[in-house]
Amino acid sequence: MKKIIYMDNAATTSTSRAALDAMIPVLEREYGNPSSLHQLGQQAADLLADARKRVAACIGAQPDEIYFTSGGTESDNWAITQLAQAGAAKGKKHIISTAFEHHAVLHTLKRLEKEGFEVTLLDVHQDGIVRVDELKAAIRPDTCLVTVMYANNEIGTIQLIAEIGAVCREQGIPFHTDAVQAVGHLPINVAKENIDLMSMSAHKFHGPKGIGALYCRRGIRLTNFIEGGAQERNRRGGTENLPAICGMAAALEDACTGMEERSKTVSAMRDRIIDQIVQNIPYVRVNGDREKRLPGNVNICFEGIEGESLLLRLDLEGICASSGSACTSGSLDPSHVLLAIGLPKEIAHGSLRLTLDEENTEEDVQHLLEVLPGIVSGLREMSPVWEEMMKENS
Ligand SMILES: *Cc1c(COP(=O)(O)O)cnc(C)c1O
Repeated sequence: MKKIIYMDNAATTSTSRAALDAMIPVLEREYGNPSSLHQLGQQAADLLADARKRVAACIGAQPDEIYFTSGGTESDNWAITQLAQAGAAKGKKHIISTAFEHHAVLHTLKRLEKEGFEVTLLDVHQDGIVRVDELKAAIRPDTCLVTVMYANNEIGTIQLIAEIGAVCREQGIPFHTDAVQAVGHLPINVAKENIDLMSMSAHKFHGPKGIGALYCRRGIRLTNFIEGGAQERNRRGGTENLPAICGMAAALEDACTGMEERSKTVSAMRDRIIDQIVQNIPYVRVNGDREKRLPGNVNICFEGIEGESLLLRLDLEGICASSGSACTSGSLDPSHVLLAIGLPKEIAHGSLRLTLDEENTEEDVQHLLEVLPGIVSGLREMSPVWEEMMKENS
């Protein structure tokens, strides 16, 4: 079998050795229920408390500010729904967000709109960055929540989170950020960055799938999301997924150790890919700001071709990539993120997202750069759209 070159880390990551080593003993031996009073239960409770402490430490939070959930989607749903409800109780039903959030956020906002909330989606401009003064201008007396993602999952752009947080804090408006793409990849300190609530997901930083957390600052009242037992301080019922929780803590610690070094290596590969593509392939556009982006994110549109056919050709070469978010690929609508940064539909269709991490090598990059120009020109030769474009240009 051909070697797999995995460049789809924004969709999910491999499970790290550290995570596996933390999970396997728990799966094998620590089957106690953390709510049980006997010794096996108490051992499990200790492991749970320890994992909570370690996750908190990695983001500059306190252990009692961490609520384990089933992942990023649940954390987003919980944070937004509950802040909206709290706002409505005070007669405030206006929410500010952005046009390029993950669907876990956008679809939650859609539901709230149907329930009578008013949502302002901020422009993310051509560079994929929200402007803080535009956020300030959008705030109204009835604004009950601001939710802006930390880093975008498709184009990798990083937002001015600390500044946005400061504006919200000053105005007394709760601020939530979907930091699923940022946690474990960028240094984050929730206290210093004025973040009130933050969503995270383990499988985006080499932890297991189906586990994540919601950070909720002390002083922000969090209402119950899942009714049941007293787990997660009565807020989210259900026996804790202890093996996954332990895996998440280990993966996060691992990701936060040596982050700067790793980030340098990964961003060097990213920059080489972008530079080489721009140099060697005509009619391409780099999506999102080149500096303020995640270390491993490459997002480029190739005019005149379909992202999906490009993906299939790359797959034949053993390269796993994406044309947008995993959730939208397979549908014919172009990515809402690329439309939000102002790309015309026909160009947004030809997008390629490569998301690298430290497991990628220079050889991987070399192989990609060797095969990509040929694949693109091959597809363009067969494309009626491309033929049209060339006619118009000649
Ligand atoms: C992956 C992702 C999610 C969803 O997280 P899950 O744990 O898969 O539910 C939410 N937001 C962003 C930005 C993501 O990249």
